[in-house]
Amino acid sequence: MTSRQHARIALYSLGGTIAMTPQASGGVAPALSARELLSAVPGLAETGIEVDVHDFRRLPGASLSFGDLRALATDIKARVADGVDGIVVTQGTDTIEETAFLLDLLHTGDAPLVITGAMRSATAAGADGPANLLASLRTAANRKARGLGCLVVFADEIHAARYVRKTHASSITAFTSQPGPIGYLVEGQVHVPLRPARGPQLADAQLDSPPGVAVVPAVLGDDGRVLAAVAGQVDGLVVGGFGVGHVPAAWVPILADAAARVPVVLTSRAGTGSVHASTYGFAGSERDLLDRGLISAGSLDTYKARILLTLLLAGKAERAEIVAAFGLY
Ligand code: ASP
Repeated sequence: MTSRQHARIALYSLGGTIAMTPQASGGVAPALSARELLSAVPGLAETGIEVDVHDFRRLPGASLSFGDLRALATDIKARVADGVDGIVVTQGTDTIEETAFLLDLLHTGDAPLVITGAMRSATAAGADGPANLLASLRTAANRKARGLGCLVVFADEIHAARYVRKTHASSITAFTSQPGPIGYLVEGQVHVPLRPARGPQLADAQLDSPPGVAVVPAVLGDDGRVLAAVAGQVDGLVVGGFGVGHVPAAWVPILADAAARVPVVLTSRAGTGSVHASTYGFAGSERDLLDRGLISAGSLDTYKARILLTLLLAGKAERAEIVAAFGLY
């Protein structure tokens, strides 16, 4: 991939279960450095991959911030300019489906950027971190992974950030994609049969004080009081509608009012599949809501829609740009 014989990869450690060990106070917590993670990977020397380590954060996934990810994307850009061939990030799995999509929007250029982690902590029986890290380093070092934006590698599967979701709380195969993984590893070899088109790139988004974008899921029998309280306090709103984009009829005036003030994006709380546009005609249906100014997220899931809307608002995007960006999905 370069004139060097072996790929050079930048490894960033952000914390998460992969770096967690038992604490005297009870439970496991992030403790291991990037160097220590690497030293637990069998067979790394034989790959010839050169790794530069960066202890970037030591946090559980739930405590990572937009500012942390913005700083990471900026640092990655500098390393790529310095000539690294690819990047691997280890972090807590709880937020990987969001951080991967965020980094996908911020990451420019063709260098492979791979996120991984572990479902079992570093000292647990059958810890999956070392295998995931080795597979990720192999992927990031492989030219087949170039030009695909941010990837998530878990259990020898390669997922596109745009599709991947954590669909199990604790299984070592927790990460799945609705169209399926775009690639996989077999006997250490990287295979990438599918190459989805890249989404929008919002590389310059400033996220030190990100706009407030709330997610409100539709739930059975809800009278809209919580929605109304939230809608008055945010810069943007993402609605997790039932099925193809439906909400209780009581929500309609609240959402119409909100959509006249701030962008309100309609997603499906089902997590996969698309919001419809022209099928149902009752109060609170997708047609009704889109007619009242809500913006369809298409097939983008609720939590990724929040990330995209946050970045668009951080860049002061006008309504037409927001509609166009979601229109890509
Ligand atoms: N369960 C999480 C993990 O797999 C904890 C975290 O996200 O930090 O890493």
